[in-house]
Amino acid sequence: MKLISSKEVKARKEDHCDYCDQIITVGTIYKKSTFKDKKCIDWKSHLECEKLATKLKLFKDGFCEQGSFYAGVLAAYNKIGKENINFREKLQIVLKKYLPLQ
Ligand SMILES: [Zn+2]
Repeated sequence: MKLISSKEVKARKEDHCDYCDQIITVGTIYKKSTFKDKKCIDWKSHLECEKLATKLKLFKDGFCEQGSFYAGVLAAYNKIGKENINFREKLQIVLKKYLPLQ
């Protein structure tokens, strides 16, 4: 998978992050990328989700699909917590642990 373009833009309408599937709220700066394999894939993401995917080394062949992101976040959470909480809450805990300066 080849990264064709990538830029940071401000959300003018509500959107979804392709990593965590949570809402990108209006006014948030997020990353808009285009990848190319056999076809082009547009990818929108929270800046912190991409940083986390990089930190957890979830990229394979230059790309991290949503399933890999979920699996990586859950694996990281299982090292630090055991509570039965939903994915969004686990993601917040993992973000705090791995990106403490945010
Ligand atoms: Zn996200």
